[in-house]
Amino acid sequence: PSLQYEETRRKIRNDVQEMWYFINGELNKIKKSLDKYNTYNDLSATFNLVNEYKKSLITNIDKIYQIDGYTKWREKEANDLSSLVQQRFRSLQNPINCNTAKKLICNINKGCGFGCQIHHLVYCFLVAYGTERTLILKSKGWRYQKEGWESVFLPLSDTCLSPNGKTHANWPSDESKQVIILPIVDNIYPKPIYQPPSVPADLAQRLSKMHGYPLVWWVGQVLKYLMRPNNNTKELLDNKRQKIKFSNPIVGVHIRRTDKVGTEAAFHDIEEYMIRVHQYFESLEKTPKIKRIFLASDDPKVITAAKQRYVEYEIIADIDIAQTASVSRRYSNLSLQGIIIDIYFLSRCDYLVCTFSSQVCRVAYELMQTHFPDAYNRFSSLDDIYYYGGQNPHPQIVTINHVPKREGEIELKINDEIEVYGNHWDGYSKGRNLRTGMIGLFPSFKIKNPVKAVVFPKYQHLRI
Ligand code: GDP
Repeated sequence: PSLQYEETRRKIRNDVQEMWYFINGELNKIKKSLDKYNTYNDLSATFNLVNEYKKSLITNIDKIYQIDGYTKWREKEANDLSSLVQQRFRSLQNPINCNTAKKLICNINKGCGFGCQIHHLVYCFLVAYGTERTLILKSKGWRYQKEGWESVFLPLSDTCLSPNGKTHANWPSDESKQVIILPIVDNIYPKPIYQPPSVPADLAQRLSKMHGYPLVWWVGQVLKYLMRPNNNTKELLDNKRQKIKFSNPIVGVHIRRTDKVGTEAAFHDIEEYMIRVHQYFESLEKTPKIKRIFLASDDPKVITAAKQRYVEYEIIADIDIAQTASVSRRYSNLSLQGIIIDIYFLSRCDYLVCTFSSQVCRVAYELMQTHFPDAYNRFSSLDDIYYYGGQNPHPQIVTINHVPKREGEIELKINDEIEVYGNHWDGYSKGRNLRTGMIGLFPSFKIKNPVKAVVFPKYQHLRI
């Protein structure tokens, strides 16, 4: 298919979704302000009908996706691209001579949770890939597991794990140094251009055609390489899969509580998540007989409450894991196993409902991309839009003019750059127009997220 075809198809789908958020938001406001019984009934009917319209539109667009004759192409292209980058990663990590190889050293021990640490590692890996240096991971004394990375995952290399070299220096240093030490992502100056949202220019066009969000795909590929389970972890995951009888279709729900709530994110009741779950099942052409959910949380009370309140769903959840995840018991071997299990299964669901303010859910969403040719729209976030923590600034571009009609709205002109603060999931997003400096609301469908293509080394000797 042409690039334009693929982009248009996704655009239509997004617009329908956004239109629905809008109507839903508007009607909810009116509904709340009314108390007359009849009018209320009329409104409910409107709600239902609009919902049916939306369902029909989305179903048809998804059907186009299935019958347009490109399914095989999409699967092949996704596999080819994945094989290509995985091969590059392997070659980077397995230099011919480890004694003379250029190296980059990264320490996993950032003072934060697993999702945050793994994102830190992804960023190190991207800098390694961008500077063609083998990444050497320091993980002894890891706060989750003092033996380090290899107690749960495969080593990052089969041949080169030693940090030794003739010359050492701190980032950025210069090319002549054999070993360069990278600081924690937050403290790095100058910021490497290889960090998100950059994607390699030599892949950007193919990625834009194949995937709705190339950056997420790219990060997912790095995670696929980094998070290869070792034999023990493989066994753990296989046993778990059998025990919980994990099978699709299934919706992954991540409810982040304890230390996050009130500090970095707002509280959301289980019901808010379940509304999105309900909407997902409703949107399918055929609602499955068993509505299955994989529920993960760092608060065991969430699991007890969900099982009590939502008996019409089959809820798969492990209360013991949630217990080890709670903030007081977090940094232990058991808790590490728990978070690996939860992320693994969340990423294998057909749809994710969560808060993107949590790195746990963002990791699951990124990994999810490795299980579908294009899973960019298989999520519903109750708060943030997707972002990569510490990413370089990445304004979005206006595609449709907007004249403010209501208080709080801002003007948009085609090609304006907008720094987006968030999507309110009611048809509106909030952001700052970099041309006018104005901050305010605008209809979400009037902007697009451009792909940031940056020249990385091309690993030409590996071309296939
Ligand atoms: P964030 O704080 O939610 O952005 O994500 P982090 O991964 O940086 O830190 C949260 C940590 O809390 C995780 O790494 C886990 O150790 C724990 N945690 C949070 N939610 C869950 C969950 O659903 N399941 C499990 N097993 N652990 C969780």
